[in-house]
Amino acid sequence: IERTFSIIKPDATRRNLTGKINAMFEDGGLRIVAQKRIRMTREQAETFYGVHKERAFFNDLVEFMTSGPVVVQVLEGENAILRNREIMGATNPANADEGTVRATYGESVEANSVHGSDAPETAAEEIAFFFAGSEIT
Ligand code: ATP
Ligand code: MG
Repeated sequence: IERTFSIIKPDATRRNLTGKINAMFEDGGLRIVAQKRIRMTREQAETFYGVHKERAFFNDLVEFMTSGPVVVQVLEGENAILRNREIMGATNPANADEGTVRATYGESVEANSVHGSDAPETAAEEIAFFFAGSEIT
């Protein structure tokens, strides 16, 4: 059993899609073992997306991620990291497979409704960045 870190992004919370996206995770075999709705600070967003610091889209991305509430969550299941990425679909909603979260709800490559960890090391780091162990159950 594996855990991954997920974010329901501001474009999705703004459109009241938290429940619909959570249903896609649960129907896809993932269990929500921790979840909270927060407003990310600029510092949190800059640190969280630090690997993209040199990219042209970095400032817009930080602006977007702090533009409204997000739901941060820990998802658990068999191969949760890969499974979650399958449920999310490709980064750019235009390239995402039908039935995925991003194909269904994504508005653009930036406002693509969800984030999911890409590897076990980043999943562990990202979970620890937002959650205490005692918040996960
Ligand atoms: P995430 O890390 O959010 O799960 P990902 O791993 O599919 O998505 P990354 O390459 O890690 O994609 O990019 C992180 C986020 O940065 C994307 O989800 C998207 O919101 C934004 N992003 C990526 N590429 C672009 C781009 N070319 N223009 C604008 N925003 C982008
Ligand atoms: Mg990524």
